[in-house]
Amino acid sequence: METTRKHIVVLVPLPLQGHLTPMLQLGSILHSKGFSIVVAHSEFRPPNPKNHPEFIFQPLSDNLSGFQATIGNLLDLIAAINSNSGALLEEYMVQLIEDQKLQGNQVACIIHDGLLFFVDSVATHLKIPGIVLRPSLAAFMQSYHYILQLHAQNLIPFPESRLLEPIPELYPLRFKDLPDKITFEIRKQLLDYFISSVNINSSVAIIWNTTDSLEHSALLQLQQHYKVPFFPIGPLHKIAAATSTSFLEEDQSCISWLDKQAPNSVLYISLGSIAIVDEKELTETAWGLANSGIPFLWVIRPDYVNGSPLEIVKALVGERGLIVKWAPQREVLAHKAVGGFWSHCGWNSVMESICEGVPMICRPYFGDQPVNTRYLTSVWKVGLEMESVLDRGSIERTIKRLMVDVEGKEIRQRMLAMKEKLEGGLQKGGSSYESLNDLTQFITSFSANVNKIG
Ligand code: UDP
Repeated sequence: METTRKHIVVLVPLPLQGHLTPMLQLGSILHSKGFSIVVAHSEFRPPNPKNHPEFIFQPLSDNLSGFQATIGNLLDLIAAINSNSGALLEEYMVQLIEDQKLQGNQVACIIHDGLLFFVDSVATHLKIPGIVLRPSLAAFMQSYHYILQLHAQNLIPFPESRLLEPIPELYPLRFKDLPDKITFEIRKQLLDYFISSVNINSSVAIIWNTTDSLEHSALLQLQQHYKVPFFPIGPLHKIAAATSTSFLEEDQSCISWLDKQAPNSVLYISLGSIAIVDEKELTETAWGLANSGIPFLWVIRPDYVNGSPLEIVKALVGERGLIVKWAPQREVLAHKAVGGFWSHCGWNSVMESICEGVPMICRPYFGDQPVNTRYLTSVWKVGLEMESVLDRGSIERTIKRLMVDVEGKEIRQRMLAMKEKLEGGLQKGGSSYESLNDLTQFITSFSANVNKIG
């Protein structure tokens, strides 16, 4: 622990790519503000300490060795980490506090992922302030509250025929955009998860990887509910040092391939770290791409597809496209050759695309993706929703609309305006800049009162 740094911030991330990345980015930012950073992480899918020599890493054993995280068992993963890690975190924290006290340092607070519910009771027990990091759009959180409201009013199962109707309280969302199929009874495990997710217990603040300029009204409404300070300081990746946070190895060869392509000519396709496609969708996508004539860079993770039709894909795409297992996405989006991003619309991918001014094709699967897509396509109007991924003609049409047509040029202009808006928020006087300063002071102000255990 560096001797000049008196205030220690402990981070507890969730070991999913879309959650780990913003937590490590927050760590880099707080380190640059003078805090020491300890990352207490699950042993399952640990972060790579080599990418952050300035942090201290503490694994917490979680009995999850051999667990294969898939779209179908994410709730089991979250539940297992929540029930296995509390005692270990507490034991470690007690030791850390004692050790640091001897050196005149203090643990200022614990910042945890909003889905790691166990951390709050550890923080409360040790009388350390706990802060929640929400790596999503604030409107997504509102949709959790709304589902619980529907459930409390006995309105679930909700009629299929009304799914396209707007939700008056959540403009622009429709019932269909809510993060679960409300036409069926909500299963108990999911209901418990929603209830725990909206409950911040005794946490003293919420940090958001979003900005006031994008979500002023959603943040205001949530603020009335939570009544603790909010720090919307996003986009985190633009403030943090550009270090890799990937679990999979990034294939850098795609950058030299991009170097050979014309400006704005390439469509980048990635569905993030969890979404999977079936054989039909994969094959239609390959045909749609081949028929569009547009060069593309396509991320196909080893666990991306149900079945094994990859050979068909490779034969179809020929020389025009490049397929990689995992790309250095932020670098790819910043490359001048990339003119469009076909995305599942996970929030990190959305923020990364906006910050590089790259217009999007939206193909949401689950969770926050439908909510993000709705904002991208109908409020900000910087993306086109893929009409049908099971029809190569429709895929070809959507690609051409974005990459070739006048419509695509207009979308790009709006995306560039959005990029400027977000960049403005990061400058002195901008909302995220000021919010980050407030957060720094907020954390520093704890130190006088914490660590009085025993
Ligand atoms: N990502 C990457 N290389 C890839 C695909 C994705 O580095 O080939 C990164 C991407 O930049 C983003 C994260 O993985 O930061 C995915 O997070 P997101 O919230 O977009 O989606 P999720 O994986 O949580 O569904």
